Amino acid sequence: MIELKGIRKQFGDHVVFDGIDLSLDRGEIIVVVGPSGTGKSTLLRCINFLETPDAGHLTVGDLGFDVTGATREQILALRRRTAFVFQNYALFANKTALQNVAEGMIVVDGMPKAKAYAKAREILERIGLADKADAYPASLSGGQQQRVGIGRAMAANADVILFDEPTSALDPQWVEEVLGLMKRLAAEHQTMIVVTHEMQFAREVADRVVFMDQGRIIEQAPPAELFSQPKDERTQQFLRKIL
Ligand code: ADP
Ligand code: MG
Repeated sequence: MIELKGIRKQFGDHVVFDGIDLSLDRGEIIVVVGPSGTGKSTLLRCINFLETPDAGHLTVGDLGFDVTGATREQILALRRRTAFVFQNYALFANKTALQNVAEGMIVVDGMPKAKAYAKAREILERIGLADKADAYPASLSGGQQQRVGIGRAMAANADVILFDEPTSALDPQWVEEVLGLMKRLAAEHQTMIVVTHEMQFAREVADRVVFMDQGRIIEQAPPAELFSQPKDERTQQFLRKIL
């Protein structure tokens, strides 16, 4: 359902990656791991054009196009099919939890406000924050803010949710509630790509773990296989440090 072919991105003369190929089936959950500075965030951001890739072909659901000739319509369509969960939540500080979840449905999908708010309330129920509908982000814990961030991604009804280190800015006591919500989404077969250092989460939830180093996908395999029998020396080294 998702296919990246030959994706390249450079900043100035620094080529972050060139020739990334990756594909996912509907309902598949991929965890991307690798050293910092390797291009994991940039790759996720290229998938929904938060960064414009320099070359390659992108397919998400029924939409596919060459990135160099992407039209505004194609980029907007791509953004509707992909939702992003940021490390730092990126909530609207001046909007309540309910408004944060409803915003995209109103602005992006053009849904009538009453309907969007009704849907947002359903989502707040599902993420266990019904009683926080009228709370502003500053009055929520980090874990609650990130659950709102995930609720907003759920509201987008996207083909895929892209998570960029969703728990790494959290105080340790909030990590489990956020991972728990992500596990529930996984159990509902939400297609997702998750960049994380939470190896236990990867073990439990990932269909496939992708190891990236210096802008390359070095190897990918189901977690049981990748963690116990990494083939490449770079993967072995990385896992020795992190496990
Ligand atoms: P990771 O998420 O794996 O830690 P990133 O994708 O954030 O890696 O970064 C990959 C490389 O791209 C790094 O060398 C980083 O400094 C560089 N980079 C990322 N974003 C930008 C940017 N907006 N401008 C310039 N360089 C960037
Ligand atoms: Mg990153």
